[in-house]
Amino acid sequence: MTELAPGIHSLGHKKGGHVHAFLLETAGELTLVDTLFEDDGRLVLEAIHGLGRNVRDLKRIALTHGHRSHLGGLAALARASGAKVYAHEWEADIVSGDRRAQAVTILPKQSLRLMPFQLGLWLNRPKHVPCPPDETLEDGDTFGPLQVLHAAGHSPGHLAFWWPERGFLIAGDAVATWPELCAGWTAFNLNKTQHAQSLRRMAALEARIVGVGHGNPITEDAAGRVHSLAA
Ligand SMILES: [Zn+2]
Ligand SMILES: [Zn+2]
Repeated sequence: MTELAPGIHSLGHKKGGHVHAFLLETAGELTLVDTLFEDDGRLVLEAIHGLGRNVRDLKRIALTHGHRSHLGGLAALARASGAKVYAHEWEADIVSGDRRAQAVTILPKQSLRLMPFQLGLWLNRPKHVPCPPDETLEDGDTFGPLQVLHAAGHSPGHLAFWWPERGFLIAGDAVATWPELCAGWTAFNLNKTQHAQSLRRMAALEARIVGVGHGNPITEDAAGRVHSLAA
């Protein structure tokens, strides 16, 4: 766990393609965006305890989108905390286990290290533990301290989150820093036109810190890097 700014904690592990989640602290409440890969949510629970908090302080969990790496701990964390679960309506039925995420090519597109994830989506394996969202989020909504951006392209209901007072953007899988800095994993971006629009919109925010779905957060020249990806 790394504190990126007051109340902003980055959680990551090697699994799920160096997947990351973000735990936010405001006024004694915890807000979580994405849930890491492991089914038991153990790393998130450890992080909560590491902050001296109780799991019941976790009030809300949002998913950037319905890809497996981001959904792992969802069911366990929702059960343990009683937190409300949120997703965009176009991802909600994937999160609930009623529909599988759309497969992508299994041909090499970017790095051979991404092929296991392309194949996983193709085979719909491993499955996550289903957890129906309690509510949907759409563009312009407020989620805890964050503003919700519908940043489609990587997937139809892909969300990004913006904390204006902190200059903190959660770009989800629209941006990745593993295996290298890129505008999301090439093979996974379903709609390139929407994806480009989403990147331009995120660049215009001039974020100071950018959390990404895969790889370490961007803490230096974050706005410049997002502009270069959007160009
Ligand atoms: Zn994804
Ligand atoms: Zn992902």
